[in-house]
Amino acid sequence: MKNFFNTDDILPKYDVVILGAGPAGCAAALYTARDDLSAIIFEKNYPGGNVAITEMVENYPGIDVGITGSDLANKFFSQAVKFGAQVRYGVCQKVELEDDYKIITLEDGRRVMAKALIIATGSRPKRINVPGEAKFIGRGVSFCATCDGGFFKDREVIVLGGGNSALEEGMYLTRFASKVTIIHRRDSFRASKIVQKRAFSNDRIKFIMDASVIEILGEEKLTGVKIRNAKTGEESVVNADGVFIFVGYDANTDTFKDLLELTPDGFIKAGETTETSVPGIFAAGDVRKKELMQIITAAADGAVAAKMAEKYVTEIDANER
Ligand SMILES: Cc1cc2nc3c(=O)[nH]c(=O)nc-3n(C[C@H](O)[C@H](O)[C@H](O)COP(=O)(O)OP(=O)(O)OC[C@H]3O[C@@H](n4cnc5c(N)ncnc54)[C@H](O)[C@@H]3O)c2cc1C
Repeated sequence: MKNFFNTDDILPKYDVVILGAGPAGCAAALYTARDDLSAIIFEKNYPGGNVAITEMVENYPGIDVGITGSDLANKFFSQAVKFGAQVRYGVCQKVELEDDYKIITLEDGRRVMAKALIIATGSRPKRINVPGEAKFIGRGVSFCATCDGGFFKDREVIVLGGGNSALEEGMYLTRFASKVTIIHRRDSFRASKIVQKRAFSNDRIKFIMDASVIEILGEEKLTGVKIRNAKTGEESVVNADGVFIFVGYDANTDTFKDLLELTPDGFIKAGETTETSVPGIFAAGDVRKKELMQIITAAADGAVAAKMAEKYVTEIDANER
């Protein structure tokens, strides 16, 4: 993470500004830097995005033995830096348009101009919005097994969700927890077959299907959840010390909602070319509405967005001459 927090060398003007240093942003930075454009990524947490909080990645092509999320996140970051991209801590709070330029205002009030902007701000885990959830976030309710699994050694935990993240993180939690109960609101999982097969053969995992959590219970300490069966309407309590929620993602688009066209569920409208409703602004990775939100598709989007940004910058430069 060399120089990540050194923000003294941020320039007032770049060819391309990239928001977010997840796989999409890092791939975009790698490609723009190799095209000899001046480029900077602003990242509001830590490089790697959601990859950095993933325990193990087994489906990134070319890495047949698998890799921990934190190692892959470091590789994305260091490869972009190696080819000349600047990756710096910075929270984008506003984007405005001034002629052909995009003006990015950071949290500290600094304003940076860019000819092209690549938005790669990804997504964050969805909340279930039931009583007790907000009260116990960080005190029993978690959205990250890698970050918090270790706190539940020999304890019982519940995992909510039916996709790959829920099942994979549920399996990971069996390393610590004495029992993992996966609760899913439908009668079948969306996770890939290979992941389902592994989860079903793990005897420390119990499954409750067709059930929604309607409350997270506990006074001082989380004690379990109240669930309602989707078919019978019957309510019951499942005891546990922790609840891990993996029920989907909300796009990080609050900053752009008055600037760009979004889908009704809040993702940026952009096709395979990553072009948004504003010329010169491109959306890459999980922040863009698409079929498959994974590391490989985020990285691919980043590369395409960089190429599109390069074309756009070349046109502006030609017009300015
Ligand atoms: C628990 C978990 C397990 C997963 N496992 C796998 C797996 O095994 N294989 C797989 O292919 N995929 C997996 N995924 C999905 C994968 O992580 C995502 O598809 C991928 O990270 C998307 O990359 P991205 O760059 O679009 O966004 P993100 O990874 O979300 O990165 C976006 C970055 O933008 C930053 N940001 C947000 N707003 C701002 C702002 N205003 N200013 C500056 N920076 C900002 C964020 O801090 C973040 O670092 C998993 C996801 C999770 C949560």
